[in-house]
Amino acid sequence: MSENEMSVKEKTLFGQERNPSNILPKKLTLDSRLKFRCHPGVACFTACCGGIKIILTPYDILQLTRRLGLPAHEFLHTYTHPTYLEKTDMPGVMIKLNEDDKKCPFVTPAGCTIYTDRPTACRYYPVGMADFHEGGNRDSEEVGAVEEDKFFFIVKEDHCKGFLEDKEWTIREWRADQGVDVRDEMNKEWLRLVMRRKSFGQQATLSDQAKRMFFMASTDLAHFRRFIFESSFLDTYEIDQETIDKIREDDVELMLFSFKYLAATLFGAQGFKIKEEKIKAKIKEIKARQDESVEKSVQEYEELMAENERQKKDKKK
Ligand code: SF4
Ligand code: SF4
Repeated sequence: MSENEMSVKEKTLFGQERNPSNILPKKLTLDSRLKFRCHPGVACFTACCGGIKIILTPYDILQLTRRLGLPAHEFLHTYTHPTYLEKTDMPGVMIKLNEDDKKCPFVTPAGCTIYTDRPTACRYYPVGMADFHEGGNRDSEEVGAVEEDKFFFIVKEDHCKGFLEDKEWTIREWRADQGVDVRDEMNKEWLRLVMRRKSFGQQATLSDQAKRMFFMASTDLAHFRRFIFESSFLDTYEIDQETIDKIREDDVELMLFSFKYLAATLFGAQGFKIKEEKIKAKIKEIKARQDESVEKSVQEYEELMAENERQKKDKKK
């Protein structure tokens, strides 16, 4: 396909200007075939584990902290750098490369030391996915239309010799083998938040408080759990007991819950109901404040009138 033949959407991704990164200009489906294999015997083994930007999703962080036996704050401090996600003002983290050789801290000549828990971005390579519906309201759209706007592409870099190997599979088989499907399911709602934010462009910015909440919920589940159970959160929102029990113990449930909470607070999505008594208390507080300011105005008015009267009397004297 020449660049002239590409649709607008494809140009966004494949056009020369936006495509300095060796993306092949071909739209693939789950049934398209890929000739590729990566294994310790390839001449370029681990060549792709340096000089790269690996953004971590909340599920990546959860898996890596478990793998390394570290609390999130320690993991973040040791292994990550802050960054912004997908050209938005949403804060996230990326793997901190070694200062000297710019390699990933988890790579050795023998391969990836955290291979079974490697991040989503590492699992994807060299098959990328473009999903133009991430920013929209998927629930209200037809299934066919959703599928149409999702496609796959190949990143083919000269140094990667995996394409010379004999193994051939479908994109579907490759993704299942790499554990991408599971990751996609786990990251789905979080990614939709990022894409939705991206679709807003630069017109609106997140408040500092919203950014802090997004960062905390996306990177440190222990901190987010303290926020839920040690603040006035449960007194404010109606959360059923089953959910409370689940998120108290289960990190994955807590992570999925945090995505819902972020969708509600950042984009006004449904799902979090404020308790009736809280609303009543708030209304009472506002009314009390209004009453107080009315009383104050009346008092000021009366004082002004009294002063006027005094001045009139003084003039008559
Ligand atoms: S996490 Fe593993 S696969 Fe990913 S870049 Fe680092 S060493 Fe390579
Ligand atoms: S460059 Fe390609 S073949 Fe080589 S190690 Fe990386 S993914 Fe595997």
